Amino acid sequence: MTANPTDASAPALAVVVPAYNEAEVLAAFQGRLAAVLDALDLPARVIYVDDGSRDRTWTVIGELAAADARVTGLRFSRNFGKEAAMTAGLDAVPAGCAATVVIDADLQDPPELIPQLIERWRAGYDVVYATRSEREGESRLKKLTSAAFYRVMERMSDVPIPRDTGDFRLLSARALAALQGLRERQRFMKGLFAWVGFPQARVLYRRDPRAAGTTKWNYARLWRFAVEGITSFSTVPLRFAMWTGVLTSLFAFAYGIEVVIKALLWGNAVAGYPSLMAVVLFLGGVQLLALGVIGEYVGRTYGEIKQRPLYLIQEVTVPAPRPRAA
Ligand code: UDP
Ligand code: MG
Repeated sequence: MTANPTDASAPALAVVVPAYNEAEVLAAFQGRLAAVLDALDLPARVIYVDDGSRDRTWTVIGELAAADARVTGLRFSRNFGKEAAMTAGLDAVPAGCAATVVIDADLQDPPELIPQLIERWRAGYDVVYATRSEREGESRLKKLTSAAFYRVMERMSDVPIPRDTGDFRLLSARALAALQGLRERQRFMKGLFAWVGFPQARVLYRRDPRAAGTTKWNYARLWRFAVEGITSFSTVPLRFAMWTGVLTSLFAFAYGIEVVIKALLWGNAVAGYPSLMAVVLFLGGVQLLALGVIGEYVGRTYGEIKQRPLYLIQEVTVPAPRPRAA
């Protein structure tokens, strides 16, 4: 698992590419990536992970592997999601590999930026992440919600998660080894990358629109992703539930005293149905909210405790890379 610089067969650079229904863009992607790798003149390995695509993605990966000895591919038994696909790719990086890059297949992350990432890594940084300075071809609402998400994450999370940063980044051997050791099932990779620590640097780039194909995200999926991110890296919502409870009980206590005093002074005239309803409904709502928050964390604990593998591999290109046990 640790870097072994004397291992001559290990590539110096591994590139992990999760791909889900990316048949239209993969060949173009590989073309641009190969040009960058050729210019770098480092022994490299490109690992495509087909995340249960329903189009020709796996066939295309097979063709790319046949055409270029640097290319290998893994195919999942079904769609496990991008976080699992990245994890499988990182697990398949050969031991002794000096640096690993994670990059999207849709050319939104320009492969031409890789030399800059490598430069920062050579300057001594373990995690070099690419932060987008501009995003093109995305709706205003997507940009707005994404910005809001990063701001909320920043305030709630226990570890600082760089804003406006996708998964496009370079990892040193020891950062990769640390990451491979994190086997939690609810994976929020952006948080995990930050969690490992080590010297981190960033490189700015302009995010291009998707080259072909369509985005795999819709708002329901993004919402789940956001909840995942917040609950895996923060217990602030639990504390929030507690404080709401404390505040409402204080309020209820004060109101109770007022009611008693009034009854003592002027007798009980059985008025106050509206206020009674208001209080009952409000307390009911607060309790349900708190229960929901707790349920979210209980559900996550349940998911972890089942100890299921993070992904299942159905097929690998030949010659097969050897993935580590999940
Ligand atoms: N992806 C994946 N599994 C999924 C969804 C996406 O491996 O279930 C890959 C996808 O092929 C692409 C990357 O993750 O390489 C980013 O996906 P996408 O471009 O759809 O996301 P966006 O850039 O819109 O955030
Ligand atoms: Mg994309």
